[in-house]
Amino acid sequence: MSVHELQSQHTGDESAVDSGITEVERLQQRIAILEQKLQGACVGPFWASNVGRHFHRPTCEWAQKISPWNFVQFAGHEEAVAAGFRPCKTCRS
Ligand SMILES: [Zn+2]
Repeated sequence: MSVHELQSQHTGDESAVDSGITEVERLQQRIAILEQKLQGACVGPFWASNVGRHFHRPTCEWAQKISPWNFVQFAGHEEAVAAGFRPCKTCRS
């Protein structure tokens, strides 16, 4: 099978999904996109200290005080929370 055949097959799958979508699903997709935009404010990187309890935006005054020895970086808000850290109130991370 050539690369071209694979691509046309993939496009065919997508159009099949589009035509079969209901109005409710369309709205749910819209809501999901809006939620992603809202959460966009919480996208990392975030910095934390191994010996601390909070994570910060790199611009936070507390983030500047993290020791290089204890420095931890997270790609996103949820990742930092999952690691047991809490958002900083100063930088609203
Ligand atoms: Zn902070």
